Parts: sequence; structure tokens; C-alpha cells
Amino acid sequence: SGTDGLALLGLTPSAPSCPHGPALLFVKTSQGKEEGRRFYACSACRDRKDCNFFQWEDEKVSETRLAAREEYNRSHQPHFTHRQNVERYKNFVQLSLPKRRFCQECQQLLLPAEWEKHLDHQFLCDISTAQLKCPSQLLYPLENKKTNAQYLFAGRSCQFLVDLITDLGFQRVLSVGTPRLHEMIQLKASQEEDFRVRSLLLDIDFRYSQFYTEDEFCHYNMFNHYFFGGEAACETCRKFLSQDSGERVIMVTDPPFGGLVEALASSFKKLMAMWEETEKEGHNNQEMPMFWIFPYFFESRILEFFPSFTMMDYQVDYDNHALYKHGKTGRRQSPVRIFTNLTPSMIVLPVEEGYRFCAVCQRYVSSGNQHCEICDSCTSKDGRQWKHCVLCNKCVKPSWFHCNNCNCCALPDHTCERTEAGCFVCGKAGHKRVTCPSLS
Ligand code: SAH
Ligand code: ZN
Ligand code: ZN
Ligand code: ZN
Ligand code: ZN
Repeated sequence: SGTDGLALLGLTPSAPSCPHGPALLFVKTSQGKEEGRRFYACSACRDRKDCNFFQWEDEKVSETRLAAREEYNRSHQPHFTHRQNVERYKNFVQLSLPKRRFCQECQQLLLPAEWEKHLDHQFLCDISTAQLKCPSQLLYPLENKKTNAQYLFAGRSCQFLVDLITDLGFQRVLSVGTPRLHEMIQLKASQEEDFRVRSLLLDIDFRYSQFYTEDEFCHYNMFNHYFFGGEAACETCRKFLSQDSGERVIMVTDPPFGGLVEALASSFKKLMAMWEETEKEGHNNQEMPMFWIFPYFFESRILEFFPSFTMMDYQVDYDNHALYKHGKTGRRQSPVRIFTNLTPSMIVLPVEEGYRFCAVCQRYVSSGNQHCEICDSCTSKDGRQWKHCVLCNKCVKPSWFHCNNCNCCALPDHTCERTEAGCFVCGKAGHKRVTCPSLS
């Protein structure tokens, strides 16, 4: 059944740790009900191949196993520390161009003394300063669907975000799982004198520590709000969020879509709380401004945790995701949107890409998104024109029709919810038209 699966119970104070920080508590569910023993599993890796941590909630773990686990966690940390990587970078940029190598297999900048160890690996030569400033182009995107799913913004979408952030007057961006946005901001800041936006990247991809200092990048797990760099890294983040001289902060995040919404929401609330605590004078009960980039079909889930959020119509495009590229060029439309707690009317969407302002809704909408007089809202979620169903009393996808069996709108070839209504062909209960035995 569709309701079978895993339910997340969350982060508990006594949670055991794997190399990715405190594990999350889960329980198996069947028909929407909890079933069986609760267990802890890795927060970051949904693929057991990436991290096979598992422990029953009520399991007694021996001292020896605990010690072994600690040792395992230690040995599964990156080979170099962030500090060491910063030192290595300093040495790397001192090298002449022909000596600057990047091992593609190890995804690592190499110092001449290390060349020997990587001789049979593929490597790139003559790594320029320009390349060092664009690590998201140099590193290959981690495409492990379940765990990392690194989908990088297309240039146009990234530029749009940077322009929007600057137009809104933000000077600081907490980039959570948005390495390419971070990179564009850093690049502009180093090239344009009057561009004063700064960014701090929080990401689980430790490869970025080779290119950024400890003030620019924190190794962070957004499913359990875990700073791998401990209290010092947490403090870096806290400092970044504290606004001196009226500098305004916005958090932008683009988590893996397979991610557990409630785990993400709980971490984001902790980052918001961090921001709230920093300002002595208080933020007049405001929330830290945020852009949460996520597919539109998660709208209700996000609003459950963040009722102040609104979904924007802007379609976020990606470079390395065939399905999520912009529709205007003949490809499929991206389902990815921006959710924000900022006033929707402030989020100006590009008219040249077909967005228009709806005066009634007070927000920019897709060109295909028509204002429905009955719903009194621009109702389309996917950019296509939706149609109003008087029986459902709401707007539905253009491809849907009202089904009298189900008493709601659905695709014409759907399987009806209420099987007791009987087969369309023979009228008997228990099967549908397509599987009717009288047809075979
Ligand atoms: N569109 C963004 C990238 C989004 S892909 C851009 O172009 O900048 C998702 C990002 O989240 C990746 O950078 C990935 O490394 C990071 N990520 C995945 N799991 C994470 C976790 N558990 N904690 C923190 N970051 C994570
Ligand atoms: Zn190598
Ligand atoms: Zn409208
Ligand atoms: Zn309607
Ligand atoms: Zn039906």
C-alpha cells in the first residue's frame, strides 16, 4: 500500500552517532501505523551502501562495541582536516601553472610530492586561478541519487538568485547545500568592487574544504544540524548570522529532494533560532528570511512546518538534470520552486521569461497561470493553465477529469479508489476494467 514505509521520529538526545553525526530514529509503518521496533539509522545516507549504521532503539550496546564504533567513526573522517586543506591550498596557489594538478579520481588538488601516488589516476593539469574559483565546475557532481544528488543550478537560475538577493538588499547569504550559488557570490565579490554580498557555505560535501577557508565553508549535515567541525564551526556560523552594521542575512537552501522534509525543517528551525539569538535587540518577532528551493509537490509538507512560507512560480533550472531544464527551450518544465517567508510581492520574477504580476494575488506568476475567479487565486502549480472543477470546488490539472466513482478529479485512466464500485466492464467488485477476466 502507498502508506507503507518508514516514519521519521526524529533526533533524540541520546541518539548514537555514525560518521555523519547523530543518527535519526525511525520506525517501519504499515497502513500508516507504526509497526515493530524503532531503530536508529544514518541521517544523511539513505543508501545502506553509503553508510550502514543501524541500531535498535532498545538495543544494549556493549562497551567494546561502543569503543569500536568510535574508532570506526574517527577513521571514516576525511583524510585531511579542513585546516590542512586550507594550508594545502595556500601551497597550491604558489605553484607555477604546469605544476598545478587536480586528481579527478581522488577529487583532490595535488602537491608535487603527492604526484607519485596518483600516477595511474586521471588528472587535470594547469589548474588556473579562474578554475580554483569555480570548484563546482572542477569537481564532478555527486550523482548518487539516494544520498547526495548534487544538482547544480543552471547559470541563468543562479544569476537570477544572486540578482534577487542583491535587489532585496541582503548582504549576507547562508548557503546551505548551494555550492554553486556560494561560488557565484564569492566570484562576484572578488571581481566587482561594489558587490558587497558575502556567503557562508554549509554542505556535507567535504571536497569544497579544499577551496574555501573555515570562514567560508562549514562541513555540515542538514538532516541532523551537525557541524563536523564541532563548536568552532558552529560559532563561525553563529558569527556569520549576527548582523553587524545592519547587514541583512538570508538563508538559501536547495536540499536533496529525496530528503526527509521533517528532518530538514527541524534543522532549518535550529539555524533560524541561531539567527534569532544573535541579535540582542531582537528581530521584532520576525523569522530569518529564507529561500527553500524544492519541488512544488512538497508544498503542503513545507507549509506544515513553515506556515509563513509561500511558493513562488519561478522554475529553478539545473545544469545536470535532464528533466529539470527550462520549458521555453523545448525541454520539460522544471518542477522546482522557491519557497519563502518574504512578502511574495517583493519577489520580482523576470517578465522576459513570461512571468507576470497578478494584482489580485499580489505576486508574480507563470504566464500560463490564470487567475481563477471562483478560487480567487492563481491556482496553477506546474505552470500550465489549470481548470476549475465545480464539483471538486477547486482548480485541477488540465489533464484531469471529474470521476463520479471517486468523487474527485483524476487522470482519465486512473484506477478508482473505491473498488466496491465494481468493474466498468462486468460490474463485479474486486478488480478494475483493465484487469477484468471477461476481457481475456
Ligand atoms: N543547486 C545547488 C546544489 C543543490 S544539490 C547549487 O547549484 O548550488 C544538493 C546539495 O546539498 C549538494 O551540494 C549536496 O552536497 C548537499 N547535501 C546533500 N546532502 C546533504 C546533507 N545531509 N547535509 C548538507 N548538505 C547536503
Ligand atoms: Zn588520485
Ligand atoms: Zn491571481
Ligand atoms: Zn478554481
Ligand atoms: Zn475514479
